[in-house]
Amino acid sequence: MTLARPMALLAELTHRCPLRCPYCSNPMNLTRKHDELPGVAWRRLLDEAVDLGVLHVHFSGGEPAARADLEELVAHAADIGLYTNLITSGIGLGESRVARLGSAGLDHVQLSFQDAELRNADRIAGLEGCFVRKLRVAERFRQLGVALTVNVVVHRQNLAHLEDIIELALNLGADRLEVAHAQYHGWALENRAALMPNADQLASAVDIVAMARVRLKGKMEIDHVVPDYHAERPKPCMGGWGRRFIAVTPAGKVLPCHAAESLPGLQFETIGHRPLADIWRNSDAFQRFRGTAWMRTPCRGCANRKVDWGGCRCQAFALTGNANNADPVCSLSPYNAEIRARADCESKAPPPAFRYRREVFMARKPD
Ligand code: SF4
Ligand code: SF4
Repeated sequence: MTLARPMALLAELTHRCPLRCPYCSNPMNLTRKHDELPGVAWRRLLDEAVDLGVLHVHFSGGEPAARADLEELVAHAADIGLYTNLITSGIGLGESRVARLGSAGLDHVQLSFQDAELRNADRIAGLEGCFVRKLRVAERFRQLGVALTVNVVVHRQNLAHLEDIIELALNLGADRLEVAHAQYHGWALENRAALMPNADQLASAVDIVAMARVRLKGKMEIDHVVPDYHAERPKPCMGGWGRRFIAVTPAGKVLPCHAAESLPGLQFETIGHRPLADIWRNSDAFQRFRGTAWMRTPCRGCANRKVDWGGCRCQAFALTGNANNADPVCSLSPYNAEIRARADCESKAPPPAFRYRREVFMARKPD
């Protein structure tokens, strides 16, 4: 098999974040500030990524603005020709920092909102006042002319406001709105019963998005990522393991997907100990689920195996105990009926209280 070059690098600069979203995709064990890679190591990594053919870098976290050197890293990435995207909660991005990011050459920002309704948004984020601060951040980026995507993770506790969420993104001048249903890993799996929508809520969301797409054609794009548990087939997680994507954790571990550390028995290399190109091509972690040779029934021999690549390995492990199994959200998986029944049951029961991600370990300063 000819190995394609990776298209994108997810640089998780830090796990520090002032918010505590109950669906956060960060791992349960968060990296502390003193264990984060220094800026010089991130810059070297970006150079290696360009040599390997990477085109896009996504600066993410936690909250990447928690790093004082964020602007320097963006400037370096832009200088060496990478398309730069900042994935942010917006908290910590005052006027001067936004201006510096613009001068550094930031191409695109993805700004997250938790809801269009102020009180519910603050409740879900676990930080009072954050909704209003985000509105100001969106305005600052628009004034600079940086392309803006509004990201909203949707679930049973904000789906009733989906029409208002679409209006919010439109009023903020967003080029794109990403309506992404919670993906049930890490913190979201812990909170699945509090987040899982029922089939009626999902059907209504699909209709609302379809109508808005027609109405807003040419004004704002809307992406809709539907929840796995209600689909017939899984998504091609990361476009296939080790095919398109590299994630690097705040401590410098190189992963084929940002959740891969949840899988037992995989050895992850750390930046600086081995060249990135060698890790991409030859490391055990990247080879383990690359291609189709690792597959077992029902994926082996399935016509879809090079379309969805067996779905998500982390979900297969979390729900079936074995990462080599087909993603159990696939209707062909022997585990599918059981997990659908469980999800259906959860979505109909009253939602339990959120279990928020671990206490914040970033100073809360005014923007
Ligand atoms: S999902 Fe919420 S808590 Fe997690 S990093 Fe993003 S903003 Fe912070
Ligand atoms: S059996 Fe495997 S390859 Fe086939 S659709 Fe399901 S997850 Fe995809």
